[in-house]
Amino acid sequence: MSDSQVNLSRRQLFTRRNITDTPSLPWVKAAQFTDLCTQCGECIKQCPTNIIRPSDGGFPRVDFEVGECTFCYQCAAACPEPLFLPKTEPAWHAKAVIEAGCLAKQNIECRSCGDSCDPFAISFKLAVGAVAQPQIDMAACTGCGACVSVCPTSAITIKNIQQESAHVTE
Ligand code: SF4
Ligand code: SF4
Ligand code: SF4
Repeated sequence: MSDSQVNLSRRQLFTRRNITDTPSLPWVKAAQFTDLCTQCGECIKQCPTNIIRPSDGGFPRVDFEVGECTFCYQCAAACPEPLFLPKTEPAWHAKAVIEAGCLAKQNIECRSCGDSCDPFAISFKLAVGAVAQPQIDMAACTGCGACVSVCPTSAITIKNIQQESAHVTE
């Protein structure tokens, strides 16, 4: 077997996840957001769960401490600017992330987040010598944020997850 064949056999395609910022609005064109948004407030008025609030800079953004996104698209439909992607596109690539403040991670029984998750993306794994630990199925999580406000220690944040594919040769 030649060196090139060995290298080829070791070449792997893998996916790396980059966790970045929290999402601002579903379907929004993030790169053009601050250029195109006039802060007119139409999206804020239309959101049925009232989770869109003005941020410190005046630009609207979702606040999951208030409630969840139902992905109704009314914010996007109400916006007079060409600021949103079509509804056929993914709303965002945001997922729930459970941070260290989680009670279960401190061995205190809690399953509040799991009870709030409609797509059953949160499961609890039994652990030896510890209470059951929450685990998030990234494929099932929609980033709706319903688990955020119910967490008694505010341990859950919704973060953009960018997936990068890379070829690695050993
Ligand atoms: S998609 Fe609907 S629920 Fe979600 S932020 Fe927009 S208006 Fe609110
Ligand atoms: S609700 Fe919060 S504290 Fe309770 S298990 Fe879920 S992440 Fe942990
Ligand atoms: S963000 Fe929504 S779908 Fe994802 S784990 Fe929380 S409740 Fe479930």
